[in-house]
Amino acid sequence: MSRLRALPVFADGPLRRRQPELKVRRSRKRPNRVGFAVPSEFRLSVTDYPGIRGGDALEVLLHELVHLHVGRAAEAHAWHGRTFKRTLARAMGEAYGITDLLPSNTLHGTYAEAIERTRVGIGDQLTIPFAA
Ligand SMILES: [Zn+2]
Repeated sequence: MSRLRALPVFADGPLRRRQPELKVRRSRKRPNRVGFAVPSEFRLSVTDYPGIRGGDALEVLLHELVHLHVGRAAEAHAWHGRTFKRTLARAMGEAYGITDLLPSNTLHGTYAEAIERTRVGIGDQLTIPFAA
């Protein structure tokens, strides 16, 4: 997580100063909700499940980190609105070199596929979500 916290996109926010509390839940099958963040408590949760790929875990982790950075924006769709999408897109570019995607929704999966395709540094990043 330290590498992601150090991304330029997070430079002016709380992630640069301290590490959020991360909980990894385990589920026997893929849950509807693969992760969540509680900005007011500066914590996040990611769910591990059978068949989860590195790209899935990395997408969820970065998505939830962006929630901690953006918080509740004063705009339509406060949690997943324009600010969130723009910030997530920038973070994906800085973290994984994914610059050609701006998904219209924020459901998990689109970026996971892209991360899987790039396989950039997956070897060492794969351990980040669950080793922290
Ligand atoms: Zn979200």
